[in-house]
Amino acid sequence: NKTVILKRYVTGVPSEDDIEVVTAEAPPLVVPAGSAAVVVKNLYLSCDPYMRIRMTRHEVPNFIPDFIPGEVLANNGVSKVLSSGHPDFKAGDLVWGMTGWEEYTTISNPESLFKINHPEIPLSYYTGVLGMPGLSAYVGFFEVSKPKKGEYVFVSAASGAVGQIVGQLAKIAGCYVVGSAGSDEKVNLLKTKFSFDDAFNYKKEPDLEAALKRCFPEGIDINFENVGGATLDAVLPNMRPRGRIVVCGMMSQYNLERPQGVRNLFYLVSKSLRMEGFLVFNYYGMYRRFEEEMAGYLRDGRVACVEDIADGLDSLPAALVGLFSGRNVGKQLVAVAAL
Ligand code: NDP
Repeated sequence: NKTVILKRYVTGVPSEDDIEVVTAEAPPLVVPAGSAAVVVKNLYLSCDPYMRIRMTRHEVPNFIPDFIPGEVLANNGVSKVLSSGHPDFKAGDLVWGMTGWEEYTTISNPESLFKINHPEIPLSYYTGVLGMPGLSAYVGFFEVSKPKKGEYVFVSAASGAVGQIVGQLAKIAGCYVVGSAGSDEKVNLLKTKFSFDDAFNYKKEPDLEAALKRCFPEGIDINFENVGGATLDAVLPNMRPRGRIVVCGMMSQYNLERPQGVRNLFYLVSKSLRMEGFLVFNYYGMYRRFEEEMAGYLRDGRVACVEDIADGLDSLPAALVGLFSGRNVGKQLVAVAAL
């Protein structure tokens, strides 16, 4: 059983050397009598930015426990059930949910797994558009920002797993949407594949505030914040009165020992803005409704997705670390085994 472990707690930018692929004894591939666990074979493993937060030791407990050096890393994946002691699952079922970064995993609380209802759609999509990032885009956009037709929407880290879906949902909702991304290749994807009305490469814009003014001469109604820091500071003066800022994440802050301050917060007062964060885990109760709606959009072509699929368990460390330099083009995941 090849497994991927955290070697040490990380400060600053994570490197591949902080993570190690080791060979460990495989768990028994049949659950013991009386156990309600399931044993799964992992097919696809997802790389997500929030894993970086778990790689630092926190004095005060965070929203999710820190990883422990020497232990197998965990995250969402798509898996096949090999053996089950749980009444809701049987051998052969395809599921997505929290699993180990390894070939085979014993999951002792399978209640947190979702059975895959649309195996006709590429299974890897359950790490992205039909999984946690897709649900984040859906609840962040529809539930938190409550969009209205014709509104002006800005999305940062727009070509990534969450951003690419937010942009397309904004078009479905009849909004005008502009995205920022860190390369011309990504900007091109936003315009040609994800139906953004406009997009720009923030690395080529010396003045972000001016770039946003150019793209939104009438201002922004909804800012879907994936980056934080200087991006949020540039957005605030460009917001329209009573606009909404949905804080999904802060990519620019996760590797900093001391987070940057935001200078322009007074615009919350002067423009009567609402800024609200959310954790997708609190919306898992909506998953089935979301899955059906999103499967429909994928089927009728209203939503497209781009994945960045690395090959084999050995590529997990590089794939995860690559998120923090923008190496990924689209949803980053790793194909671990064939069905
Ligand atoms: P992405 O697929 O967008 O990958 C991360 C991207 O962030 C990179 O490709 C890069 O894109 C950009 N990036 C990396 N470092 C920086 C930096 N220092 N400054 C600015 N941009 C940077 O990731 P996801 O779509 O999975 O996640 C997007 C955001 O959503 C993250 O902040 C994540 O934490 C958050 N999130 C929050 C959830 C919640 O429950 N609230 C759930 C899921 C995700 P580029 O080349 O364009 O710069």
